[in-house]
Amino acid sequence: MNLVVVSNRVSRASANEPMTGGLAAALLPVVEKSGAIWVGSSGRVRDGAQKEPFAEIEALGAGALAMLDLPAAHYAGYYEGFANSALWPALHSRTDLIRSSHDDYQSYREVNSFMARALLRFRKLETVFWIQDYHFLALGAELRDLGVTHPIGFFLHTPWPTRAIFSGVPHHRELVEAMLAYDLIGFQTDDDRDNFLSYVESELGLEITGGIVASRFGHSRCAVFPIGIDPAKFAAHAAKAASHPDVSRLRRSLNGEKLAIGVDRVDYSKGLVNRIEAFDRMLTLQPQLKRAVSLLQIATLSRGTIEAYGDLQDQLAKLVSDVNGRHGEVDWTPIRYLNKGFSQTVLAGLYRTAQVGLVTPLHDGMNLVAKEYVAAQNPVDPGVLVLSKFAGAAQELDTALLVNPHDIDGMARTIAMAFSMPLLERRMRWEAMMAKLRAGTIQDWFADFVDALQDAHAANDKAAALTLAGDPAVVWPLRSYSAPGGSRYH
Ligand code: UDP
Repeated sequence: MNLVVVSNRVSRASANEPMTGGLAAALLPVVEKSGAIWVGSSGRVRDGAQKEPFAEIEALGAGALAMLDLPAAHYAGYYEGFANSALWPALHSRTDLIRSSHDDYQSYREVNSFMARALLRFRKLETVFWIQDYHFLALGAELRDLGVTHPIGFFLHTPWPTRAIFSGVPHHRELVEAMLAYDLIGFQTDDDRDNFLSYVESELGLEITGGIVASRFGHSRCAVFPIGIDPAKFAAHAAKAASHPDVSRLRRSLNGEKLAIGVDRVDYSKGLVNRIEAFDRMLTLQPQLKRAVSLLQIATLSRGTIEAYGDLQDQLAKLVSDVNGRHGEVDWTPIRYLNKGFSQTVLAGLYRTAQVGLVTPLHDGMNLVAKEYVAAQNPVDPGVLVLSKFAGAAQELDTALLVNPHDIDGMARTIAMAFSMPLLERRMRWEAMMAKLRAGTIQDWFADFVDALQDAHAANDKAAALTLAGDPAVVWPLRSYSAPGGSRYH
């Protein structure tokens, strides 16, 4: 098999650099090992009609990275426009933040079509294409239009919202119809898959049998593959990072205070305002916690040219300085707020230093930081994860302290409770979460998806052949995915 993985951005981050997001963090190690070709934007653009898309190719472990210069005329409309100002807000149930023009949609489709043409040069007899995330909803359909009959799968790293919300996206029908060109469509949680299927059934009126949609492209299987991490790697990083200067300086600066940590891109989906308000409320309700606890919030800036992100950056900076101004003392600052990133090695050491991990998004596909925080803990004295019930990770990490991020008082009480949780309870909760992380690692996610994609494609071929032969007995699924003791996906 010759696997071609496609995402908007690729990552070549070394162990000493920050990751740009969960997708890059997850894919880098598995692509390196699998020998796949990972294709994505170089981050640069190029003018004029490109006959042959320019690609820079370099080795990546056993595989390769291919970085394309995307068309200059369409990049902003595609990336900041349709992908991040129409799809991203809608996928995170924030249709009020949709700002997108018809031209943005055209640019989005142009870039999908450009990428499809660029991918042809990586096509061999045995190629399997695996497309990642909301930037490329229509890429499978573009490939099919170019005559590609190979297996093509798609995985969505974000949530899929309810039917009513997704229908707020301009051109929503065309987009979902195009998605049905994929042999396999993977989601993070059951709710995401069910919302998608409910849209397909009621908006498109298509027939669905056992998670399989029949459309003009053939059959598309919709299934759930919760993305994981490499827990052993994080545990090793965390132990090793204890002596890293950033980590030891942090420890020394605490003077016996307990620490909560948050690590997020500055994005409205992450619930940062609610989190800071809850921390503020906690200090007001329980003033004895002043000087006894503090919060380290790492907040990496992203998509700053989009108005909603710029506004949020300003709002957060003001809110943090207000909380620090009201509660701070000459020798104590409640919130350390950093707009810079750290390598995953250092991050693991910072996670381990904190007695409480705060992961409180309003909506999140999975949230890998939640899993990384757990994996980085000291097994004999683990910290407590406070986790939003609206993060995909809450489906698996159900022994975390689950919170509703819209309930500020409830969150304030839960954070205080996390700081004072007895060791026995911390260990029981942590062990249960670790068992889940070990049972569904990033390597499992990768292998499960690729296996399921090949099965779905083989079944699709078979279905097409049987239909052509006029055989009415096309039976789906050809393989059961819920066999006892069998696969993790469903
Ligand atoms: N990350 C990092 N350095 C930082 C902040 C974050 O390497 O300073 C990584 C983090 O380890 C995680 C990813 O970025 O793997 C963030 O993924 P997540 O799923 O939590 O959120 P996303 O940004 O993809 O929405």
